[in-house]
Amino acid sequence: MSKTTFAKTPPVFFQRLREVTEAYFTENNLRKTGDGRLYWKTAILMTALVGLYTVLVFFTPENGWLSLGLCTLLGLVMASIGFNVMHDGAHGSYSRRNWVNEMMGHSLNMLGGSVHYWKAKHNVNHHTFTNIEGMDEDIDIKFFMRVHKGQPKHWFHRFQHIYGLLLYGLTYLLWITVNDMQKYFTGKIGEKTKLKPLSLKEHFIFWGSKVGYFTVFVVLPMFFAGVVPTLIGYGVMVFVTGIVISVVFQLAHVVEDTDFVPGSTDPQHVESEWAVHQVATTVNFATHNKVWNWLFGGLNFQVEHHLFPRISHVHYPALNKRLIEVCAEFNITYREFPSLRSALLSHLRHLRQVGVA
Ligand SMILES: [Zn+2]
Repeated sequence: MSKTTFAKTPPVFFQRLREVTEAYFTENNLRKTGDGRLYWKTAILMTALVGLYTVLVFFTPENGWLSLGLCTLLGLVMASIGFNVMHDGAHGSYSRRNWVNEMMGHSLNMLGGSVHYWKAKHNVNHHTFTNIEGMDEDIDIKFFMRVHKGQPKHWFHRFQHIYGLLLYGLTYLLWITVNDMQKYFTGKIGEKTKLKPLSLKEHFIFWGSKVGYFTVFVVLPMFFAGVVPTLIGYGVMVFVTGIVISVVFQLAHVVEDTDFVPGSTDPQHVESEWAVHQVATTVNFATHNKVWNWLFGGLNFQVEHHLFPRISHVHYPALNKRLIEVCAEFNITYREFPSLRSALLSHLRHLRQVGVA
């Protein structure tokens, strides 16, 4: 496993933050896992998924533009299931029942991915080693993009703030095909992390979900709606999912003023307490926007999420005020962009700066 370590000083900031957070749940007599708000959201998103699929495949509209609009919506619904249902499930914060978390986490397999690999890549590497080169696969976009100055530079990176968003559109399809296969056949995540060998059941789930997904979302629609309309519709759908997922995740860590740790030294040592590192590498955005709060599953509250991944996202708005107070108490900079637009512009400015620096 990794040789990355954090400062050994007593984690005073995190201790205080935990006290304040625990107090919130005790005072209000609440559980940390999801509640009715999350269950309703799941029902609405799943109904939307089935409804849109049924209309597109079995009652394909004559109007091509309407179909494309519905495919766009389907791509958005898929991303939102990822943010709200799968993400909480995979972190074990959806419910206090483990089997429910497992089931919700596996909604990723229904959408073509593998929750097994997601947990290793996201819960372990990304959450522990946020923005650390060689450990956090979220900042490894190969030579296509340079997201921090510790990565090699190529001449075309000067245009990455222009082609970046298009590239993000391809990420979902690449993730569920190339990246998952790479993990499956090499048994590794990134350069350094070796994965445990899969059990027989995991092999079965992996291949079963890949075959099931492509049968349902590509083969069946070709049969009912035609080959070309399916390829176009599927392309639009995965493009939208890819762009939405990538942008929402990038806005939390890859913007101006977030910290990155270059990956040249081995073993690596980060000179701050783990929780302080999380705040330094993570940014919130548009926390007062109810629509984004609903759709993004608390991923616009990434600071809270990185500090407390086992708390369901439905509680993040209430924890936000307390987090800001504790950060102020310890003189730690809490960062938030007031809107999605301002965060996106900062992301693009960051890409341009790193592309020419
Ligand atoms: Zn997470």
